Amino acid sequence: MTYDGGRTPHGESGITVLLRRMRDAVAREANAQERLDDLTRIIATHVVADVCSIYLRRADDVLELYSTEGLNRDAIHAIQMQWGEGLVGAVAKSRAPLVTDAAQDHPAFKYFPNIGEDPLQSFMGVPLIRSGRVLGVLVVPNRARRQYTPEEIEAVLAVATLLAETTASGELLDAADTEVVDEMLHQPVRFRGGAMAPGIAIGKAVFREAPAPKHLVFARDAATETARLEEGLDRLRKSVDAMVSDDFLAGETREILEAYRLFAYDRGWKERLRAAVMSGLTAEAAVERVQAENRARLANARDRYLRERIDDLDDLSNRLLRCLAGETLDAPRDLPDDAIILARFMGPAELLEYDRLKLKGVVLADGSDTSHVAVVARALDVPVVAGVAEAIEQAEEGEEIIVDGEEGLIHIRPTAEVLRGYAEKRDLRSERQAAYAREADLPTVTRDGVEVEAFMNAGLAIDMQNLAATGAAGVGLFRTELQFLIGRGLPKASEQEKFYGEILELAGGKPVVFRTADLGSDKSAAYMKPREEANPAMGWRGVRMAVDRPGYLRPQLRALIAASAGSTLRVMAPMVTLASEVEAVRALFDQEMQYARDRGKPLPSAVEIGAMVETPAAVWRLEEIAARVDFMSIGGNDLAQFYFAADRETALTQTRFDPLEAGFVSFLKLSVDKAKAVGAPLSYCGEQAADPLFAAALLGVGMRRLSISATAVGPFRRLVRTLNTAELGAWMDDALANTVGSLRPGLDKFLRSKGVDY
Ligand code: PEP
Ligand code: MG
Repeated sequence: MTYDGGRTPHGESGITVLLRRMRDAVAREANAQERLDDLTRIIATHVVADVCSIYLRRADDVLELYSTEGLNRDAIHAIQMQWGEGLVGAVAKSRAPLVTDAAQDHPAFKYFPNIGEDPLQSFMGVPLIRSGRVLGVLVVPNRARRQYTPEEIEAVLAVATLLAETTASGELLDAADTEVVDEMLHQPVRFRGGAMAPGIAIGKAVFREAPAPKHLVFARDAATETARLEEGLDRLRKSVDAMVSDDFLAGETREILEAYRLFAYDRGWKERLRAAVMSGLTAEAAVERVQAENRARLANARDRYLRERIDDLDDLSNRLLRCLAGETLDAPRDLPDDAIILARFMGPAELLEYDRLKLKGVVLADGSDTSHVAVVARALDVPVVAGVAEAIEQAEEGEEIIVDGEEGLIHIRPTAEVLRGYAEKRDLRSERQAAYAREADLPTVTRDGVEVEAFMNAGLAIDMQNLAATGAAGVGLFRTELQFLIGRGLPKASEQEKFYGEILELAGGKPVVFRTADLGSDKSAAYMKPREEANPAMGWRGVRMAVDRPGYLRPQLRALIAASAGSTLRVMAPMVTLASEVEAVRALFDQEMQYARDRGKPLPSAVEIGAMVETPAAVWRLEEIAARVDFMSIGGNDLAQFYFAADRETALTQTRFDPLEAGFVSFLKLSVDKAKAVGAPLSYCGEQAADPLFAAALLGVGMRRLSISATAVGPFRRLVRTLNTAELGAWMDDALANTVGSLRPGLDKFLRSKGVDY
């Protein structure tokens, strides 16, 4: 019989009839084997398939044939394939459907004699996936060479979703096998991603969006389910409307919500949901089935925009499931005491909104260690691992999770042994930090007597306690924009003055370099009107925005002048490209000084104005900028972004280029040499210097003032004390002249041979 993707005489689609029959088979009073055999028979007759087989995964990852229509029945339980073995194993391993009309030519093809399989030419295999775990594989091969139609593929995908659901819910297998599946779904797993913020956190998974509750697959009464679906959709639409109408939305969040709204009102989506309910599914199972189809369809879309919409649709489906369960949407998430937040992405402002005492770690699908959310996480001492979308799929709310921000690892449902190991590692890390704290009073001088200045980066009042603990010489970069990102509106000049005053007081006389608010790009506050920019990192941001809209900058300068009365005010401008931008900032600053003078206000005893060097243009004409400021600081995060033409917010581009590339290090050397030639003070405040090898490279090219995240200050100072700059400088000159690629391996070897401690 051929599969009819169209309509039956009663107006039902082929898939609907197929799923209805499957539902009846699952509901039948029968043992598990009979139910499975019924299913393979039903599927084989609906799809053009000579064979239909279901393989289930055992706890030892072997794929065992549980049921077949078309092969010898003796093969049941006798055929067992290793993970990755044969076409079935390949489907399981790749977690993706495999469709071919030349099965025997496929590299993974494996022939099993005596099972009645030969000579099969065409093959379609689909993984049975539940909660991100492969539970088995459904295959529908054919003897004839033929191509499967899109409708057939869609039908098999729908069947696979149902099989996975019923396998996990215990409706399909007997108790012992269900237990095996359950165990598999809850096996410990480990993922490797990118370490964005260091530290070890052990806690409970909390999804940024609450997960959908568990539910039944098959419904008793289609009319009731249709009514539930209508009601759920209605609630969903109201909640999305309310979200979109929030005036405080900005940038990415608004875009996502606008996409949500389009989908929430999409008639095609609603029709497909209704059709799925009519086939006998519960409203919840219908949502999941339609979403599985969406995922399969969009995953292959050529258009990147469409592919990216999968996540939006996932979120929306999840919201609909929660509406169906009668949950209140948008209530703030209540965090347990040891929360590990799992999210696709997160902006720096959102991270600051969580309860500091309860938030222990963050797991993100995307981001890199120079993302601003990572910068904020480091300030909060919250470990973050990113680039682990699969981990987010496989974790369940409330499960135990370890975030290893040192190695970039995520452990879900760790064994007791792993947990013990990590608890020790976490304690050891605090001990190490304590050891560095005991060295806080030691000088930052190299073995050959060269003095190095170790400053720290900060952005929150709470960071300031690290000054004493780390022995940092001061704050080399105070990111003032964090204050702008937390609130619901632009902070008033008086609020800013109070805050800067508090920071200076907490600094206890150590210097603090205030960087004027570096807004724009990914640092957009909710109250700022969203801007459409194709390349926000190269867009209207930093000093560009500040001089075009003095409404941001002038009150800030006024507040800084007032807060620094009687002491030295150090202020620097971000994202400088041209000398004229520095002149514009200076002019605004002079106006504010005059304003204070005219009103007889107390003034700073001295003023130092600086510029951040974070565009290649600024390096190239460094002398012009140096002539107009009192000091400069290299913002290596942005500078590397523009040097490598690699977005700092994207994990894929970030892992491609090592900042220790000889080319980039020589570019930094060029900046140091240029600054030296004109006698201008230059420091480095990019986050890369938290890596001791990168910090050593900076020392190697003659940089003598670094500003790094607080946790890196202690290790950096110890490195300085055990290093000889003359030897390092000579090694570096030679390495820069002779290395193609990264200096990392060579530098590591050199430092170890010299007994440097890092
Ligand atoms: C930099 O770009 O290196 C920098 C220090 O500034 P931010 O990370 O805040 O952009
Ligand atoms: Mg920057």
